[in-house]
Amino acid sequence: MNKIEHLGIAVKNLEVSNTLFEKLLGVAPYKTEEVASEGVKTSFFKTGESKIELLEATTNDSTIAKFIDKKGEGIHHIAFEVGDIQAEVERLKDEGFTILNETPKRGADNKWVVFLHPKTTNGVLVELCQEIDKNE
Ligand code: ZN
Repeated sequence: MNKIEHLGIAVKNLEVSNTLFEKLLGVAPYKTEEVASEGVKTSFFKTGESKIELLEATTNDSTIAKFIDKKGEGIHHIAFEVGDIQAEVERLKDEGFTILNETPKRGADNKWVVFLHPKTTNGVLVELCQEIDKNE
């Protein structure tokens, strides 16, 4: 794993939180994007080498809606950048981690993403992400 690519934070209202994080970080989000398949609206902020991703649910059965119902707003996942996402999936499976989607899916911010089940990672939802090639 190369680095922490971003932290995902579940929020109730993206507009309100964009303003808050803009004040906090001193920069505006560099993009906002809806991922309809996941039922989320996201925005991304650059903080040096890493990023902050804010996530708001767009449907009631979105994982973000369920997360906020259960735990309230807050850190939702930690995302690691990897060079070869499929190889990492195989390695982590062999190590006994539960992979939520073994086939990488298209996430926000032009990334292939895979999630690990929090039950095998001390309660932390872990995302692996790899930049999508322009030709893919
Ligand atoms: Zn993420």
